[in-house]
Amino acid sequence: MTTRRIFLKTSALASAAVVVGATQNVKSENKYTTKMPAKNPIVVSTWKHGLAANEGAWKILSAGGKALDAVEKGVNVTEADFSNLSVGLGGLPDREGHVTLDACIMDENANCGSVAFLQRIKHPVSVARLVMEKTPHIMLAGNGAQKFALENGFKLEPKKLSPEAEKQYNEWLKKSEYKPKANIENHDTIGMIAIDATGNCSGSCTTSGLAYKLHGRVGDSPIIGASLFVDNEIGCATATGVGEEVIRMCGAHTIVELMRNGKSPMEACKAAVERIVKKSSKNLKEIQVGFLALNKNGEVGAFALQKGFNYAVYDDSGNKLIDADYYFK
Ligand code: ASP
Repeated sequence: MTTRRIFLKTSALASAAVVVGATQNVKSENKYTTKMPAKNPIVVSTWKHGLAANEGAWKILSAGGKALDAVEKGVNVTEADFSNLSVGLGGLPDREGHVTLDACIMDENANCGSVAFLQRIKHPVSVARLVMEKTPHIMLAGNGAQKFALENGFKLEPKKLSPEAEKQYNEWLKKSEYKPKANIENHDTIGMIAIDATGNCSGSCTTSGLAYKLHGRVGDSPIIGASLFVDNEIGCATATGVGEEVIRMCGAHTIVELMRNGKSPMEACKAAVERIVKKSSKNLKEIQVGFLALNKNGEVGAFALQKGFNYAVYDDSGNKLIDADYYFK
């Protein structure tokens, strides 16, 4: 199985860090914190596929566009990539062979929308945005979400796995074992958070979820406060990895609250990972969770359970991929 994440044990704090200045690379005492002057715009997103998604977002941000538009159009790039095995309709299916999609979006005014267990729609995050803008609700799921999408002009895509997803699924069927692994292929859910030129924050998250999940399983990605949270006074956070671990401690919301209480994005992400380690009864060596946060000053931080989580940062100095620090050394 091609999915996601692995791990080890022990603490160890990052005491070194890459600090990427907005216009230059600067070393600071924390090698894993991306520190920038308080300037906008900026967009950050999870994993290597974040680089291409950031390009889409940056077109909007650099032209003075809204963070909300940037985080939608940015992750649309990943959703449209049929070769991506963890986002959009090219994603690995559940154990019954269905690709089921989860996504959410949140703006600077705490407006939010989400879809869960959505099938055969290419851009779930855009459906989530319409749920936010056109309905009195926040979340639509399953057939109802699909019906809403179709009524709003989305097209029903063919029920067809991507060639690579089909190949890997057929391989998986031979044993039908469910053992989530960590970022082996280094591509996962995309969570994107951004600040636009006016200083407003927004975020989005979209995924095909864990490969070979039970049919009907919904992860953290469509759950506001778990995979994504935005508070325009403080900043925003997003999550990737095994959603069950993120949901049980309201990951993204927890991180924003930790930033509210004075932690830097990196410290907040690290504290959230430590809370998972403290509270979870699961074997965390078998899974990955990665958090990514951005505060109103334009500082970026990330932290993961395991080695291998990275994130893409785009500001006016360009687009770069940065390795996150991690708990199990
Ligand atoms: N968080 C996603 C989920 O649990 C998985 C991922 O990040 O790839 O569905």
